[in-house]
Amino acid sequence: MLGLPDSVWAGADKRSPADDHVAYGGFHASQDRRHLLLPTLHAVQDDIGWVSHGALNYISQRVPVSPAEAFGVATFYDLIATEQAPPRVAHVCDDIACKAAGVDRLLDDLSDRLGDAGTVVNGGMWKRSPCLGQCEKGSAAFVQVAGAQNVVLAPVSVEQVVDVLSVATPASSVAPTPRSDTTLLNIATTSLEDFRAAGGYHALAHAITIGPGGVRDHIDTSGLRGRGGAAFPAGIKWNAVAAEDGQKYVICNADESEPGTFKDRVLMEANPFGLIEALTIAGFAVGATVGYIYIRGEYPSAHSRLSAALIEARSAGFLGNDLLGSGFEFDIEVRRGAGAYICGEETALFNSIEGFRGEPRQKPPFPTQAGLFGRPTLINNVESLMNVPSIVLGGGEAFASIGTGDSKGPKLFCLSGNVVNPGVFEVPFGATTRELIDLAGGADGDIAAVLIGGAAGSFIGEDDLDVPLTFEDTRALNIGLGSGVVLVFNTETDMADIVSRIAEFFAHESCGLCVPCRVGTVRQKETLLSIRFGDGDIVGKLELLSDLDEVLREASICGLGQAASVAVQSALELGLIGVPE
Ligand code: SF4
Repeated sequence: MLGLPDSVWAGADKRSPADDHVAYGGFHASQDRRHLLLPTLHAVQDDIGWVSHGALNYISQRVPVSPAEAFGVATFYDLIATEQAPPRVAHVCDDIACKAAGVDRLLDDLSDRLGDAGTVVNGGMWKRSPCLGQCEKGSAAFVQVAGAQNVVLAPVSVEQVVDVLSVATPASSVAPTPRSDTTLLNIATTSLEDFRAAGGYHALAHAITIGPGGVRDHIDTSGLRGRGGAAFPAGIKWNAVAAEDGQKYVICNADESEPGTFKDRVLMEANPFGLIEALTIAGFAVGATVGYIYIRGEYPSAHSRLSAALIEARSAGFLGNDLLGSGFEFDIEVRRGAGAYICGEETALFNSIEGFRGEPRQKPPFPTQAGLFGRPTLINNVESLMNVPSIVLGGGEAFASIGTGDSKGPKLFCLSGNVVNPGVFEVPFGATTRELIDLAGGADGDIAAVLIGGAAGSFIGEDDLDVPLTFEDTRALNIGLGSGVVLVFNTETDMADIVSRIAEFFAHESCGLCVPCRVGTVRQKETLLSIRFGDGDIVGKLELLSDLDEVLREASICGLGQAASVAVQSALELGLIGVPE
């Protein structure tokens, strides 16, 4: 990855008498290669199972960055171990969707068999993990394997975890995801040939015919809004980037990490060429020659399918110079995240690619003016981009004719928790929560509450199940649609435990950059736990939660802190947490 060192300063053998007196390069040379820091940490982690101080020193010499900076980056990510770790580490999900499905029993059994999380047994170790994006399976483990492919087990049993820790090259075992057979989800392509037979690359050819402005007009007319949570109009973003000069980038944000969300994984695994074509069209429309797909580290299957698809597309001339004889040059690189929810925030994602800690940047400037490497950048998530080929081929007006006033087109929803048939379902915008639950086979038990939008979203009760899940209707309800999570909890669920887990999630995932979030999320978690266990002055603690809510919303730098108390407050309003009298 780094090539051979070119001087003794970078670890080479001495080549000339001057070599140990003269340092070549300097600050600019170091910045040129800094973006290789995270991929290099991944390479060592993948091969050895952890990054020793010796390895870190060597990496910092070769990239080069100071050892302190390299250590700061390495310790930012959950999937990079800087303390000695065994060759196999199973991260077992204990997050809210799996909790609703009863994973706590499995975790107790694991503790009985293997000792508490973190105990080394049989050359392996298990750990508790935040959401792994396999929510429809009800339980899941992501296993880091030194010197071999990382694997996923979903659903997972105690026996599977025990076995996987003692096998040198384990294999993945993942049940298929129930899904609706509709526009975005009805393509399953394992080869470029299949993809082209299904109409693949017709949209790129048409885009080239109508030109960048024609593509942007369609995106504008379509009314497409971002599907990652912010719901920003795509047309405004695309036109803003196109209006800038010089080097630009397009990025697919595939760091899907919101608890309860797994649709982007399903899309990437089913249709990797579709995403590559969509990002290529985006690059053509805004004048970018380089694209990145930043995919969460816990998605090894989607990562390998995308990587293989990129090689195939490149060798067939669908990436590289002079695409389809148009003179347009474009290529894509895949970057892996390393277990940090905050890297789904667009500016944190830029920092992560650039080799810095994945901390958000102050805005403005906005990414359309100064994004990746300080250049104008278009960033959209997987689902948003996957709509692009059909918009280009069918026209913006046809897309805009689907859905409701402010919410255009089809929408994917992730149904999980206490439903009969958890999966990903596509509907035209306008379906209600109750209709979506029916699509998933109905609720499993009596509904206590439904979490809309994930951990950063809100709980709703029975009274609001018939509200359409559109941007405008959820806004009127004072909740966010988020990334399309519909997580159902029945009356058997310990809701205080669920709400505490959400608070724990934010305390763990806060990047620590700003005080309101760094401290506020921890205080929120502690306060909920003390309420749950009937500890002290309840009225005072509820007031404290309300104060924390205000501070988190008003003073946090980014969306993580601003949303960290939303689900907690909605649970209190609905009376989901049994507050002692
Ligand atoms: Fe980091 Fe939280 Fe501040 Fe966002 S709000 S910058 S996640 S500390």
